[in-house]
Amino acid sequence: MLEYELEFLLSNNPSYGFEHIPDRDREYLEVPYREKEEAKKLGAKWAKEKKKWYRKKDGRGGGSLKRELDKYKIVYLDIPFSEKERAKELGARWCPNKKSWYTFTENMTNFPSDDHGGILAGEDRDFGGNTLFVDLIPKSCWFTNVRYCIDRADWDTLRRRVYKRVKNICECCGKRVRKGESLEAHERWSYKDGIQKLERVVALCTICHQVTHYGHSKGLVGEEVLRTHLKHVRGFGDVECEEHIQEAYRLVAERNLTDWELDLSMVTDNGFKLARTVRKEDRRSISAARSESRPPRSESRPPRSESRPPSPRAAARNK
Ligand SMILES: [Zn+2]
Repeated sequence: MLEYELEFLLSNNPSYGFEHIPDRDREYLEVPYREKEEAKKLGAKWAKEKKKWYRKKDGRGGGSLKRELDKYKIVYLDIPFSEKERAKELGARWCPNKKSWYTFTENMTNFPSDDHGGILAGEDRDFGGNTLFVDLIPKSCWFTNVRYCIDRADWDTLRRRVYKRVKNICECCGKRVRKGESLEAHERWSYKDGIQKLERVVALCTICHQVTHYGHSKGLVGEEVLRTHLKHVRGFGDVECEEHIQEAYRLVAERNLTDWELDLSMVTDNGFKLARTVRKEDRRSISAARSESRPPRSESRPPRSESRPPSPRAAARNK
């Protein structure tokens, strides 16, 4: 029996102790034939039925191994016909099945413009789904976010790409922003094995963004406003809404215990340079120093049961 057949049988039979990974949880990779052994060592698996290598979207092959496999990830490009020769020179390849150009993520720095329709290399656009949820940031990570590490102009370029691809529609509630309003970019992070990794940037309307940063926003707009929107978008009753918020605070309390290493490979993979880096040992003290010099935020403190209207000053700050 061929090795791959054996592996396929084993991986599809839970009784052998191998996990079956459903198609929706797989991320397919373009592994050149001569590199298949290396990819296998890094945790890539062979899908015989599709004749393709894949990895689990997170979990197996995670951590540094997962990052090593990133070089086999591809990004589809939107290349105008007149540009195809130049694109080929820059590392674009043609996929006859999809009838689309693609390139490996390591070549993405060659395509820094909006040519590729706002797709960000290495981004997991399924991460966190398109569901609205309270997404509290651990205290040690406050302030040392993407905007802290890249130049303002780069951040503006990155977020405009994200806004453009969603055509001015909030990715969580589906509301189209009106003239004069604008979307806001929200960073979605994974927290695993001591690493806080940027996985995705979503474009949200203001109120959805405020709900995600519930702890920060409740003093600005009041808990009632946030809860009403969350209940409306998620179809929650009062009890489900309360449980959802309490669970978010439980999770952030757990994450507060770790000094997280910041992984911004998604930013650098897309050709943006880090203006500054931050050591995980320093993040907690940066957070503490900045919290002292700014109005207090309260993402770590559970909500009060009663809502409090914002003070006029807080309301003005939010404008
Ligand atoms: Zn929204």
